[in-house]
Amino acid sequence: MRIDIPNVTESITASGSEIESVLQRAHLRSLHMALVQITRDESLLTSRHSERETLIPLALSVIESMPGVYQPLDRDMLGAEFVHKMMQTMVQGNVPKEYVPMMMQQMSLLKPVNKYGDHPASCSTDLKVAVIGAGMSGILAAIRLKEAGIPFVVYEKNSEVGGTWLENSYPGCRVDVPSHFYCYSFAPNHDWSSNFSPRNELLDYFKSVVDKYDLRQHIQFQSDIKSIEYIKNGCWNLTTVEGKKETFRSVISAVGQLNRPKLPDIKGLADFGGCLLHSAAWDEHVNLRGKKIVVIGSGASAFQLVPEIVDKARHTSVVQRSAPWLFPTPDYHDEVDIGHQWLLKHLPYYANWYRFWLFWTGCDAFLESLKVDSNWSGARSVSAANEKLRKSVSEYMANQIHDYSLLEKIIPNYPPGAKRPLRDNGRWLSALQRDNVDLITESISQVTAEGIQLKSGSFVDADVIICATGFQADQFLAPMEIIGRDGLSLHDFWGNNPQAYLGMTVPNFPNLFCLYGPNTNLVHGGSIIFHSECQINYIMNCLSELLDKGHRSMEPRMEVMDKFSERIEQANNKRAWGVPGVQSWYKNSEGRVTQNWPFRLVDYWSETSQMKVEDYIWQ
Ligand code: NAP
Repeated sequence: MRIDIPNVTESITASGSEIESVLQRAHLRSLHMALVQITRDESLLTSRHSERETLIPLALSVIESMPGVYQPLDRDMLGAEFVHKMMQTMVQGNVPKEYVPMMMQQMSLLKPVNKYGDHPASCSTDLKVAVIGAGMSGILAAIRLKEAGIPFVVYEKNSEVGGTWLENSYPGCRVDVPSHFYCYSFAPNHDWSSNFSPRNELLDYFKSVVDKYDLRQHIQFQSDIKSIEYIKNGCWNLTTVEGKKETFRSVISAVGQLNRPKLPDIKGLADFGGCLLHSAAWDEHVNLRGKKIVVIGSGASAFQLVPEIVDKARHTSVVQRSAPWLFPTPDYHDEVDIGHQWLLKHLPYYANWYRFWLFWTGCDAFLESLKVDSNWSGARSVSAANEKLRKSVSEYMANQIHDYSLLEKIIPNYPPGAKRPLRDNGRWLSALQRDNVDLITESISQVTAEGIQLKSGSFVDADVIICATGFQADQFLAPMEIIGRDGLSLHDFWGNNPQAYLGMTVPNFPNLFCLYGPNTNLVHGGSIIFHSECQINYIMNCLSELLDKGHRSMEPRMEVMDKFSERIEQANNKRAWGVPGVQSWYKNSEGRVTQNWPFRLVDYWSETSQMKVEDYIWQ
């Protein structure tokens, strides 16, 4: 049979029995909602129709009668009320109404809330925008600016797009947000090989989006921005490291946070005579086979890397300062089922509803267990819910241990959620229990030419030292020099305490916007792509206002930013990651959380979906 269906990636050419076998492997809840949406038959919203026995024959008959029964809907025609009913049926529970527009937007069932579409390409004004960085958020900015017909140039320090996914190429590197959600809402990818795809596929995805939107002509590669300086009248001068200068009306920083490797401050590191690597500056030519390897760190990067190298190495010693919390994710390395993939490509709306499912199940529910109860005592949890989580995850981890001497070392001594929890399918602890692997929890007193000296005096020989010690994430927008109004340096203005209104705009720095700026990182759910989409919609609304009203510049009112920062700080202090005594890359050296968004995802979505004109000074 051949069925051509509009708005779906591929026509159906499979036989009835092939389709039936595919349906057996469907994500049933997504299948159910896709059928409801195709037929627009509300009577199918019953639990009887969600049962496999009823659903699969129904799906077969609907697919066979397409395209007769299926009329692609204008995206906005499916009413929010109906979609809300579908959402509640799908999750078999309450979905508060405030989530519906955000989810519909993320499912591409609703156009983004913005006005910039009103500006045709012919609007070309002197509002020329510089985007710094061609990683995930810079690509997004370029797509939106191009759609709006606003002239722009993207400066990228590397010779290819992809940002963190270009730069991080260590063995085992992969995403820890479900792949079918970790892609732009408007550019889904149905070809992911895995539920959590490896780095190469992510890089290919971002390159393919750049090509699809024909963005390469707008990108200046190997252009590292040295400084940006505000002149006047809303204009900025950009200077590259090579000394090239250009003037823009607005600058969008999309430089990311997790791309400048941080080496540990350990005496003698530079004297090491073997091979010194950082996980985020991997050298693919290094041969690890038969080598004695020391890995410093046990965060997200080490966690992915260590299980990949222990087979090759003669011996691996992992030096752990703090143990990570491991959250069970049995399908972390699983490939996408071929039947499920077929449905993503062929069955209208199946992919949209699958995205909703991934978003909803990884949305705000987890936040509750990370909130601090001020009446709760105990250093290892922050509330009754957090304690329950601690116990269940500790049990999950302990059950993986057969060498009980390890137990004390692997269970974290801080509350779950105080650092980034890692998605686990058992590979980390299995690697640590191999005969050729040691977990060292003593600190290193010195590195010598031959290896590492521990505080106790013992010495570990090494051919290779891998520092999986994270990034210089606290230095937002560094190493660029940014000079705002009246010669004020952004880094002087911030000092140790970077703050931006909604993570995007800063008083004294007119027409400058940050993507993934201060306090926009997520711990409890969602994805940075979702947050970046919120940010770029907001920024486009700001640019639109500048264009519409003929303003030269905008900057947030100081009192607005101060009030915002105070609200953020108070909330962060009431989250597991804000409690005193736990140091992480989320905090500055004084313990203030400069990285994280402490509220729900829906709060960020609603706060950024409308720009409040009164929050800004317009010139
Ligand atoms: P990280 O989470 O900051 O981990 C760095 C590790 O190095 C920690 O275990 C830290 O110990 C340790 N360390 C730092 N300095 C040390 C020293 N002097 N001596 C001994 N140990 C030292 O860095 P990361 O693993 O690169 O991850 C950073 C962030 O990148 C993650 O939180 C995540 O957001 C992102 N990431 C994501 C993925 C993914 O999506 N799959 C993968 C990698 C990274 P302490 O904990 O005691 O500080």
